[in-house]
Amino acid sequence: MKIPRLTPPGKLTSYPPPEKWDDWVEYDPKRWPERVPRHYTIVPTICFNCEAACGLLAYLDKETLEVRKFEGNPYHPGSRGKNCAKGPATINQVKDPERILYPLKRSGARGEGKWERVSWESALDDIGARIRKAIDEDRRNEVMYHVGRPGHERHMDRVLQAWGIDGHNSHTNICSSAARLGYALWLGSDRPSPDPAHARFILLLSAHLESGHYFNPHAQRILEGKLSGAKLAVMDPRLSNTASVADEWLPTWPGSEAAVLLAMARTLLVENLFDRDFVRDWVNWQDYMKACHGEDDASFDAFIEALVEHYAEFTPEFAEKESGVPAEQITRVARQIGAAGNRFASHVWRGAASGNLGGWQVARALQFLTVLTGSVGTKGGTLPHSWNKFKPEFWEDPKPHEQWNELLFPKEYPLSHFEMGFLLPHLILDGRGRLEVYFTRVHNPVWTNPDGLAWMELLRDEKKMGLHVALTPTWNESAFFADYILPMGLASERHDIQSQETHAGKWVSFRQPVARVAMERRGQKVELTHEANPGEVWEEDEFWIALSWKIDPDGALGIRKHFESPYRKGEKLTVDDYYRHVFENSVPGLPEKAKEEGLTPLQYMRKYGAFEIENNVYELYQREVDSSKGEDGVEVGGKTRRGFETPSKKLELYSSTLAEWGWPEYAMPGYIHSHVHPSNIDGSKGDFVLIPTFRLPTQIHTRSANSKWLNEISHRNPIWIHTGDAKRLGVSTGDLLHVATEIGYFVNRAWVTEAIKPGILACSHDLGRWRLKPDEGSRWTSTIVRFEDYGSGTRLRHVETLSTFPSSDPDSSRIWWSDGGVHQNLAFPVQPDPISGMHCWHQKVTVQKAPREDRYGDVFVDRSKSREVYHRWLAQTRPPTGKLRRPLWLGRPVKPALKMFEF
Ligand code: SF4
Repeated sequence: MKIPRLTPPGKLTSYPPPEKWDDWVEYDPKRWPERVPRHYTIVPTICFNCEAACGLLAYLDKETLEVRKFEGNPYHPGSRGKNCAKGPATINQVKDPERILYPLKRSGARGEGKWERVSWESALDDIGARIRKAIDEDRRNEVMYHVGRPGHERHMDRVLQAWGIDGHNSHTNICSSAARLGYALWLGSDRPSPDPAHARFILLLSAHLESGHYFNPHAQRILEGKLSGAKLAVMDPRLSNTASVADEWLPTWPGSEAAVLLAMARTLLVENLFDRDFVRDWVNWQDYMKACHGEDDASFDAFIEALVEHYAEFTPEFAEKESGVPAEQITRVARQIGAAGNRFASHVWRGAASGNLGGWQVARALQFLTVLTGSVGTKGGTLPHSWNKFKPEFWEDPKPHEQWNELLFPKEYPLSHFEMGFLLPHLILDGRGRLEVYFTRVHNPVWTNPDGLAWMELLRDEKKMGLHVALTPTWNESAFFADYILPMGLASERHDIQSQETHAGKWVSFRQPVARVAMERRGQKVELTHEANPGEVWEEDEFWIALSWKIDPDGALGIRKHFESPYRKGEKLTVDDYYRHVFENSVPGLPEKAKEEGLTPLQYMRKYGAFEIENNVYELYQREVDSSKGEDGVEVGGKTRRGFETPSKKLELYSSTLAEWGWPEYAMPGYIHSHVHPSNIDGSKGDFVLIPTFRLPTQIHTRSANSKWLNEISHRNPIWIHTGDAKRLGVSTGDLLHVATEIGYFVNRAWVTEAIKPGILACSHDLGRWRLKPDEGSRWTSTIVRFEDYGSGTRLRHVETLSTFPSSDPDSSRIWWSDGGVHQNLAFPVQPDPISGMHCWHQKVTVQKAPREDRYGDVFVDRSKSREVYHRWLAQTRPPTGKLRRPLWLGRPVKPALKMFEF
């Protein structure tokens, strides 16, 4: 049986056929024109750089098993053999001469930079004993796992529930929680899964063709849609590469996007360009009529009339006033959306949603257009992500924990999506708890979060932070302040299951330690993955199993049993046991497909690295369910249908959740004035809005620091400023700008351009890495800095620029760039949205040409002001007055027992 490739063969798609993956021969390019054959063994895995989880093929030297390069995997349903620049650049990360290869324990004071090499066994003994003590003494909430890059479906949920702790913390509230809440209120499902390949009109509130969520898989499909005739509109104050190829660029004032979208929705309504049948059948309009008009049996026509009235204010002219986008353009785009019928695909994830106070209403307003056009779950429309994402099932699940951790879900944020992770230092300073053991997993809170000095203060404080364990493949700014640095594998050095909603299908893919797989292919036995990886780099699966046995060596705590083999009673679980069980029992269709090839499901996944479970997954809400079997559904058209994952099972235009949880004025999709609304910005006083969130296509947060190719391409993050604004300030490209935030300032160079809206600045968040000591950090990108204390605050100052360094990689003596960028996030206060909990990234700043005493890269922060700003935003919340901490139906990662939702 031959498995079909997902990329048709062609000039640019000459992938090796799988029957030759065991011994693939290519001529050595370095020896050309001599024809010297090189033999490879090819093992599939998954990229670990962004969340898209694209497939990779690792080419290992057949003799030495050294990884020589990474290319795309044509059998991966999401990426279909293609990658962005960051995929193949994984080879730099694997071969980085500065990576951490052995477990390290600090030997001086925290942050002093003194380390000793320790064994895995002694690290496990120490950490395990401390966790056990915390559990024994009922201090379970003092154990916390804080994840930056996730990417292992359900695995950590299981580990943390087995330990009985409420300890899952995430980076979601500095990333996507606003958009998630907007979608969740409509659909239950908290992410959009657009189908642009089949759309007639595509609207992006992001830079999806060059970066962004599920970037490469989505970009491929947006281009397919465009090539098939779809029109593309992009809403972005910045003329991104994506906006530059759009049919319509709508450069909105930051935060005005919901006003524009609602004006489009109103146009669809008044011009009768909406799908009446779909809205009548699938929207909870009766709830709106009852709650807002006191009518129990209103007609649908009366509802439409009331809706037009409700949005009467949102004329295109009003939206123009708010956004600066011409009314005619707003109307023109709205009509094109209407003409697209139910083939309207759209997407917002970060950008406008994550930048603004009330940004969650941007997602809600965008989804309103999807609903009005009847494009929910259709071919060419936008699907709920849960239809397209696979979640594994295990042989047994620990029961939900009986804890509620106020450091994660404080009472002020009952609707937050999800943990208030970026507030941790402030919540601990408020006296709401301390931590005994804190794991950071591919997470760099000091650098990534706003108000990084608060994090440095917390991580240094041994009373508040008992033990900080950094699980990271490379140095980062938070690892400097760790007690242990435990090197975990990169994309080709670990196992994980990943599935993402990249299109209207469902797939599962398998990240693998490729050297281990290659060794096993040739009959070598490998007990633990660190035996096959470089140095003693391990993988988290085996680490968590081993640590759980250390916490509960005799099984008395009831933890160990969850980490015993489902096949050999009482024996330690192995990675083969784990994946064998998942692939044999929870992936529909995989056992049959594997059998056709004479393979077990695990062998199939080790061979191909991915499996397509379903394709063309459309209109699942229409499926009939059998209520006699206890299946939940909703009556529509005389039949009980699956519907959506909301309390009403319908699309919730009117959110009774918002009304009941203290925010009745926002129960409908609406427009909230952002903290950077024009009424708060006085251009005559030098005020600007800073957009600090955009990604570069060739960098990814803090994970690409040790990739030399990517750093050669992109190594600085100048401030985009419009030509007119620059002229007014007397600034040219390259001049230093002094950008003052509410708690301090930073100094960066100007890049004068027409590609940004006047009054707005933009600065990419991907660069500005730093290190305190020459040998702690990536010298490809990080600048040596010092922190200087002044009475009024603390200043970070660059003390050495980037330069060449000696290493086993000859390229380290060829570094020609000296600038690594500026760490702008350090100068930002926390700005938690009172409803979604999202950190509102955009900043109101004042800008001037830098005074003489400023130096490039300076960042100054007044910590007392950062506390003031936190308390001011906290005061905007409305804590619940009822018995519950959070609505039971709303998602929560690692959900505790239901009784824990009660105060
Ligand atoms: S989009 Fe690029 S960085 Fe993200 S997973 Fe795919 S190849 Fe890797």
